[in-house]
Amino acid sequence: MQQFLGVDIGGTHTRLMVMDEQQRFSGYRKVPTASWARQADPLQGLTELIAAARPDGPLARVMLGLPGILSRDRRQVLSLPFIPALDNQPVAARLSQALGVEVAMDKDVNHLMWWDLTRLPQLPRVAVGVYLGTGMGNSLWLEGAFYHGAHGAAGELGHMPWPGETTACRCGNIGCVESVTAGHWLADWATAHAAQTPIGELFLHHAAHPDLQAFITRLAQAIAAEMNILDPEHLVLGGGVLAMPGFPQAALIAQIRRHLRAPQPAGGLAITLSDVTDETGCRGACLAAARDLSFAGSRRQA
Ligand SMILES: [Zn+2]
Repeated sequence: MQQFLGVDIGGTHTRLMVMDEQQRFSGYRKVPTASWARQADPLQGLTELIAAARPDGPLARVMLGLPGILSRDRRQVLSLPFIPALDNQPVAARLSQALGVEVAMDKDVNHLMWWDLTRLPQLPRVAVGVYLGTGMGNSLWLEGAFYHGAHGAAGELGHMPWPGETTACRCGNIGCVESVTAGHWLADWATAHAAQTPIGELFLHHAAHPDLQAFITRLAQAIAAEMNILDPEHLVLGGGVLAMPGFPQAALIAQIRRHLRAPQPAGGLAITLSDVTDETGCRGACLAAARDLSFAGSRRQA
């Protein structure tokens, strides 16, 4: 029986999991990303990590999810702010060669989104995912496929310029929406205004604060802009920030809806909350590996 290995690379943790053809998952493991990324040769460290997680029996494909920008063919990492050592590296080819198995890659949020899309009763034709963690992850599912753009850099909603904003963003630009609407803004705000509150309880104790209400408004406005451009059937909202206890999910959805153009997308857009867990990124990567292999198989037969 064929098996698939999903690897979800995050700034803090790297997670790995195996799936068989019947979509049975096993072998979940989670290690600090620094354990391989800070080695003298990070790709060698990643190779050893994957080799150690490799299941017995035939392995059809390894799928990596990464929080950065990949080349259009998704064979090369272009920009990975958390792990700069991989920038401009032919990561997929080097891992394939070292492991002796096909290795593919995609943005990590596309794996979260694929997991969420496959939970729906029917796959939508057009859907958008916004996953809010430290940064703002954005996944575009257009006409039945993930959209990667002309150069691999599509879906960077977080780097839309925010009017009047001058904060420096990690991407190198000034005034990006991500620097005022994502987890690191919340962490900075908490340090300055609520040092006694554990960050996980920020919304439980301070959701009514005008600064946090303005945060929700900015987030809603940025997301509504993308809805009005793309007119999706489905918007999936997820990520660690939205899962924080007390996060005003209903208020966010109401404010997004307030900015939707009528009659569409206002009338037709369904909004759901993702039930993403720790394992979802690598589960979605396993499903994507199996999906891409079956697409490749059907193209060969055609
Ligand atoms: Zn930026």
